[in-house]
Formats: sequence, C-alpha cells, structure tokens
Amino acid sequence: MMHIAIIGGGQLARMMALAGWPMGITFSFLANKDENIDCVHGLGTVVRHQSDVAGEALYQALGQPDVITVEREHVDVNLLATLRPFCAVYPDPDAIAVCQHRGREKAFLQSLDIPIAPFRLADSADTLSAAVAELGYPVFVKSCEEGYDGQNQWRLTASDELVALIEQMEHWPSLVVEGQVTFSREVSIIAVRSANGAKACYPLAENAHRSSILVSSLAPAPNLTEALQQQAQQLADRLLDCWGYVGVLAIECFVVGDRLLVNELAPRVHNSGHWTQDAGGVCSQFANHLRAICGKEPGPTEPLQPAAMLNLLGQLPSVETAGKGELQLHLYNKLVKPRRKVGHINLQDSDPERLRQRLEALEAEVYQATGGAFAG
Ligand code: AMP
Repeated sequence: MMHIAIIGGGQLARMMALAGWPMGITFSFLANKDENIDCVHGLGTVVRHQSDVAGEALYQALGQPDVITVEREHVDVNLLATLRPFCAVYPDPDAIAVCQHRGREKAFLQSLDIPIAPFRLADSADTLSAAVAELGYPVFVKSCEEGYDGQNQWRLTASDELVALIEQMEHWPSLVVEGQVTFSREVSIIAVRSANGAKACYPLAENAHRSSILVSSLAPAPNLTEALQQQAQQLADRLLDCWGYVGVLAIECFVVGDRLLVNELAPRVHNSGHWTQDAGGVCSQFANHLRAICGKEPGPTEPLQPAAMLNLLGQLPSVETAGKGELQLHLYNKLVKPRRKVGHINLQDSDPERLRQRLEALEAEVYQATGGAFAG
C-alpha cells in the first residue's frame, strides 16, 4: 500500500484521492488552520498546519507518507524542503517556487526563450506608470503572488483607470504588467512526467474564460492541427526535462496566429484537465499524476472521442440536468457561494461540432438564472 500526503484539502486533493483509492493508495491532507476541508471529508486524515511543526514531526503526523505532493502552488516551499529528507516531494519545490510567483515564472520562461506576452515588473505608482507608458493600453496588471481566478488582477484601458488603481492601492505588492495579447483562442496542455523520465501529453484543450474564470473546456481543441499539438508537446517536454519534473504540469497558452504564447504554468493537476476523468480510453490527469509520483509510466492520454467540461460556478445544476445519464456530474461537497467552483460536468460526443453545441446548450441550461451563460 502506498500512502500519499497532499498539501491542501480542496477539490483537486479530493479528485486525486478519489482516483487513488482504487489504485490501493491511502491519503492524508495538510490543511491550513482555517481552511475548509469539506472537499476531502472521509477521504483520509486531515492534519492542520501548525507553524512550529515541520520536518520529521510533520512527516509523522502525516502518517509517514511515501510521497508528498501538492494540490496548489501557494505552499510554503521551505516547509516542503524540511520534509525532503524523509520522503519524496513531487513536484520539486524549486519548480513550485518558480510557478508561485508570476515575476519569477516570466523570467524563467524568458530564460528558455519561450514566447510570452511583453511584460514589465512594478511595485510602486511610478514603476506602474512607467510600465504602462512603455507597453501602451490595454494592459493587464497582475499581482505576482496573490492572484487566481482574476483576483488581484486589473485590465486597464485608459489613464483614468490607471489613476483609479493607483489611488485604490493600499499597499504595493509585486506586480507584473502585461501588454494585451490579441489571441484567437486560449488553450492548455496537460503534461506528465514520471520519476523514471517517461513523459506524456494530452491533446490541447480549448478553454473559455469569463471574468478571468475558466468556464468550459473542449478537448481536443476544435480543429487542432498536428503542428500546434507538436509545438505544445515540445514546449511541455522542455519544461518537464529542464526541471526533472515529476507529476502533472499544466501550461495555459494563448494562440496567436499559428504560435503558442505561454500565459501561465501550474505545477499540479488543473481545472482544464478535468475532462480526462471521463474521456474513454485515457487515464485521468489525477490517476496519471499519482502514477508519475509513484514511479509508474504514464497511462494513455489519447481520448477515444472528443470530450468537454463545464464548470459549476456558484451554481448547482437542476435535478433534471443532474439526472441526465449522458452527463457525468462531479460535485466537490462545497457550499454554493457566488463564483465559487462547486463542481463540474463532463460530456463526450463522437462529433466535435455536436459536442460544442451540446456544451453551449448545457451552459445555457445550467446558468439560466444568469441569462444563459456564466457572467461572473
Ligand atoms: P491569468 O490569471 O493570467 O490566467 O488571466 C486570466 C485570463 O485573463 C486569461 O485566461 C485571459 O483570458 C485574460 N488575460 C490575462 N492576461 C492577458 C493578456 N496579457 N492578454 C490578453 N488576455 C489576457
């Protein structure tokens, strides 16, 4: 029996554990003091993080895991380092440290000559104004460390908005300022590398965001060319190999012409890979992450037919929608709150165009109350 400890007790930890139980893996979870742990209820022991417990004491409290992994990038990498003498920690804390800070991540991507949006760093009214002047409107201003799902992120289109943002800043966090990219669509790559170096990559998914939150994914991305998939795969291979990465890595990209521009990396399983849970013929991203960190070769990543996912954001489906046999409902055991991810629905279809239409219709059905599409 393998025992794995996961840092975090949210829906990604839940879905990893749900994938791992049939594989004979048991779990424990390290949660923050005030973290809601409803998602992992019944799936393993939950240990509350206490600032004075680290290293061997924490390793013991977590039940002497064979491997420690993470469900989020915002973890204390120094704490992870104290656990490394006792068991494997995957992915490598150095990779997590890069991905948890947008400025470091961009510098890292730049050092590998990987295409990204033009950017500047800022941490004051003066440096922000200078960055905006250099890049030109519109710009995206993003907190280096505290942003997710559009939190601590602002799109500025004119100088009055810049003035308003400067006035509103109570303290100045490290910021990245990005020029707006004119993209045809947003895609993501879910890649996996095993401890023995074997790699695999799912087909690119096309992702729809509203108010900076992922709403739906379609995989393979409609009209995906072999060339774009190859480009994604090469990108993923370079990142995985240069870190000696172990586990699942998600790469979010903009498609500009026939090129991929990297927007963001996530050193973990990712919302845009949830479709893999029910796409016939593939090993899910959760199972593949576990296989990789347990030293097994990645399982298959080519779905038998096109697959899609709709996020449930601040909204549960009606009983009628939830009961449809052709949909796979995944709920996270969370209370419904506005914008909160409380679950998702997976669906598949042999015809990609019909799948897109069914996904659109499903979004309209789920978000009827908000005018048919999740508005944020
Ligand atoms: P992020 O938090 O960086 O993933 O950004 C959330 C969403 O905002 C992205 O999925 C895009 O839809 C949009 N976005 C972020 N940065 C840019 C950019 N530089 N140019 C255009 N759109 C962007």
